[in-house]
Amino acid sequence: MDLQKRTWAEISLGNIEHNYRVIRGHIPEGTKFLGVVKADAYGHGAVEVSRLLERLGADYLAVSCLDEALELRDAGIKMPILILGHTPPRYVPILIENDITQTVTCEAKAIEFSDEAVKCGGTLRVHIALDTGMSRLGFLCDRHHFAEGVKNVISAVRMPNLDAEGVFTHFAVSDEPGEDNERYTRAQFELFTRVIEASESAGGFRFRIKHCANSGAVVNYPEFALDMVRPGILLYGYGGEGKLDLRPCMDLMTTVSTIKHYDEGVSVSYGGIYKTTRHTRMGVLPIGYADGLLRALSGRFSVMTPAGAAPQVGRICMDMCMVDLTELPEVNLDSLVEIFGSRNPLQPIAEAAGTITYELMCSVSKRVPRVYK
Ligand SMILES: *Cc1c(COP(=O)(O)O)cnc(C)c1O
Repeated sequence: MDLQKRTWAEISLGNIEHNYRVIRGHIPEGTKFLGVVKADAYGHGAVEVSRLLERLGADYLAVSCLDEALELRDAGIKMPILILGHTPPRYVPILIENDITQTVTCEAKAIEFSDEAVKCGGTLRVHIALDTGMSRLGFLCDRHHFAEGVKNVISAVRMPNLDAEGVFTHFAVSDEPGEDNERYTRAQFELFTRVIEASESAGGFRFRIKHCANSGAVVNYPEFALDMVRPGILLYGYGGEGKLDLRPCMDLMTTVSTIKHYDEGVSVSYGGIYKTTRHTRMGVLPIGYADGLLRALSGRFSVMTPAGAAPQVGRICMDMCMVDLTELPEVNLDSLVEIFGSRNPLQPIAEAAGTITYELMCSVSKRVPRVYK
């Protein structure tokens, strides 16, 4: 690909493979591995990452919506794919035709999916989502909802033309430290297994795949692995709190397009939030918030040049931003600049933006070509 040497993201498939093996080594042998590749594999490219996971012997993929699932099928990915989010019931024939597994989040949805499957004469493979405390999607089953939850799960499993292959829940605080969070997570797990046991024994069926462990649980509660784990962020090298030997997989790169020299007291970029305090050698980088470099980071982080860190100054614009190169005379036009990645850690940059690593990786926009190593 001709990069035009503007701005690009280098994706290390080797590091994703490394992370996959580290996670595999951390969970009980025989546990299935679902790789979460939603949101274009957290910005890394869903097709490339899925091809790699398929080759490495992963068991399942998860995406958030039908378009993401179809992108993988169109690229020739044959592995089972679970849609974690909403699909309007009229697309059931497409789900069946493309052998895609759909999450069922409540009894009303189960009825709609079943009706559509009966109409088209196929069987829809589904996973039942239980809400054990995330309070987002899933069958309510806590406290006084328990009996009703079990009854609704059994009724969904028995509906015609649905094949309830799996059941899962999602943790709210498995990645947060502290006793309260541990208690909350253990209570979620305990409720999850109780609802499953009650449903299976009263309903006389068995779920083939029970799963609950997102990245936080894989790291902190490997004993919750059950039949399958469901990590996302760990695959991409973050979220392990240093407990696993993970490697970042995306280097967001740009170059120096222009160098300007300013006197002291010159106001730089929109809003004039920055004024030079000395004679300043200023680099203009061809990356801005339309590439995914959040405007909220303006003046709050440094980029990494071959000669060291350079502070970003002034408002980040849509398509470019400025860095102070006064202390780095070695940096010149066309010098390579790392915004974040292996030489410029993402975690502190995410903190400076008041967000998490996930959001900064997902924000890298379509305009930024991905280059695979
Ligand atoms: C996104 C998602 C995951 C992966 O979360 P990570 O924190 O990246 O591991 C797992 N399960 C569900 C239901 C999700 O939505």
